[in-house]
Amino acid sequence: MSILRRLTFLLFLGLCTLAIVPAAVGQAKIRDLKPTVILLGIDGFRHDYVDKYDPPHISRLARNGIRAKGLIPAFPTKTFPNFYSIVTGKYPANHGIVDNSFFDGEQTFRYTNLADAEASKWWIGEPIWITAEKQGKRTATYFYPGSSAAINDTKATLSRRYNGRVPNEMRIDELVRELGKPTDQRPAFLATYFSEVDEVAHEFGPDADEVRYAVLNVDRLVGRLVDALRTRGIADRVHLIIVSDHGLTTVKTENTVIVDELVDTNLYARNPITSRIIWQFFPKQGKVPEVLRALAAGKGMKCWEREKFPERFKYRGSDRIPPIMCVADLGWQLSTRESYDAERRSIDARVIRGDHGFDNIHRDMQGVFIGSGSSFKQNVVAEPFENIEIYNLMCKILGLTPAKNDGDINRVKHLLR
Ligand code: AMP
Ligand code: ZN
Ligand code: ZN
Repeated sequence: MSILRRLTFLLFLGLCTLAIVPAAVGQAKIRDLKPTVILLGIDGFRHDYVDKYDPPHISRLARNGIRAKGLIPAFPTKTFPNFYSIVTGKYPANHGIVDNSFFDGEQTFRYTNLADAEASKWWIGEPIWITAEKQGKRTATYFYPGSSAAINDTKATLSRRYNGRVPNEMRIDELVRELGKPTDQRPAFLATYFSEVDEVAHEFGPDADEVRYAVLNVDRLVGRLVDALRTRGIADRVHLIIVSDHGLTTVKTENTVIVDELVDTNLYARNPITSRIIWQFFPKQGKVPEVLRALAAGKGMKCWEREKFPERFKYRGSDRIPPIMCVADLGWQLSTRESYDAERRSIDARVIRGDHGFDNIHRDMQGVFIGSGSSFKQNVVAEPFENIEIYNLMCKILGLTPAKNDGDINRVKHLLR
């Protein structure tokens, strides 16, 4: 080999090494980690799925840290109200997201509409990523309800508009990449979200084998994250918190209330906002008593007038709460004659589905809380607690002064060392 060729070869080798370096830096040990919380929101992960489906990575985290026997959701037991309660410490009536969809007297919020999710007017209260940013820390929210809106003109340093098709592995890898940044750019609070467990359990019911597969899929993602943290030498120092917004229960088609046949639609000022479990009614002026009387004939649901919900719901004092709301009894669903008949006619009609949104008193509506990392006690199983307590807990771990909220750190400080 001529000297020139040899030199070219050496230069080539050198370039190859350089090309490998960026990846190697990404794997480097992190020695200067400040208090850090990663919040993993798993939609619809019921409190008993850890025992029922035995996901190995999640179970190991639970053993190494603290696990609650259940996480008590706020009423209504729907996705947006509860994920937002978790990060604000406020009940839905106080943080403004009173259901997945609602009407404030002028406009309708629909959680499926990205423009609504990004309009700051809906989001009251202060989510933890704003608390942290205001107090000089960086945050990264790679999907979490509320995180694509600028709240008090602030967003997380990294935030991405929700798109359910972004592969779950990528959500994990993006968080890990953020952690690989230099100390002054590294986020102290990171969050992401997985919808699969909820979607599969809606379709097949909570006891179906399909749900086991969905739980084990999400578990592999948790394993991917823990492996990455271990490679960087921070697995024991990062606080990893796994939460869900609510549980889910079996609903049979035979347990359906045909709601539209109960009320004369001439009594409506506007059409009801409906889901399978909750209907919101907007009667004409003075017609609330008449609509309530008509709805009382429906067996399999309960209806309340605004400001008359049971005290334990803490569901009062917001003009976004509708004049009347009906909630299906556990295991029942609400429908119109047309959708019900279509459901029964459909060759693919599933006799058993899963749903949530019911009274939060039911054990099946409880979600999961697992906390691991140096601030949490180890190998402890705690009694169920309300999800509004988590905001203060995360503020405590991160050394932040919490904004005003409905939680009380004294009710959860026993979870910490
Ligand atoms: P639910 O209807 O209460 O069962 O809500 C679960 C659904 O909410 C998931 O299947 C997602 O498609 C959707 N979802 C979750 N997070 C977001 C978000 N940040 N923006 C829009 N939709 C979301
Ligand atoms: Zn949900
Ligand atoms: Zn759901």
